[in-house]
Amino acid sequence: MNIQNSGLKGYYKSMNTKDKKWKCPKCGREFSRQGQDHYCVKPQTIDEYIALQDEKVRPRLNRIRTILRNAIPDAEERISWSMPTYWKGRNIIHFAAFKKHIGLYPGDEAVAAFSDQLKGFVVSKGTIRLPYTQELPEALIGKIARWCYSKYSK
Ligand SMILES: [Zn+2]
Repeated sequence: MNIQNSGLKGYYKSMNTKDKKWKCPKCGREFSRQGQDHYCVKPQTIDEYIALQDEKVRPRLNRIRTILRNAIPDAEERISWSMPTYWKGRNIIHFAAFKKHIGLYPGDEAVAAFSDQLKGFVVSKGTIRLPYTQELPEALIGKIARWCYSKYSK
């Protein structure tokens, strides 16, 4: 281990206390979990966001983007909460790439409304996990996006 790595390890350790959040030393974002999986560079557009992700997952991210665009074409694409976001007067739906899945963020109400159709997926707090190993539920993603749009757009 070189000096730089051991220094970083010490930094992580010092931040890993019960009442402190973990702050990424590279981008300064704070997370409740130490070593939280995230991306450090701050992309300004969805194109930039996707370009920063692992080459292997880019086609799938582009696919989700296409599904969302087609489902809610009047929503504006932007980055919000550091995630690709569809916006119409307010945030409608987000997605984000992780190591093993794409997170789709339609909110608590949408996850509850579609709970029957989401049985094969891990869901929590308004989030749906779409693992890279599983086929994308394209029709369902479109339906959820339209539901969110009709509920939240202003
Ligand atoms: Zn970071």
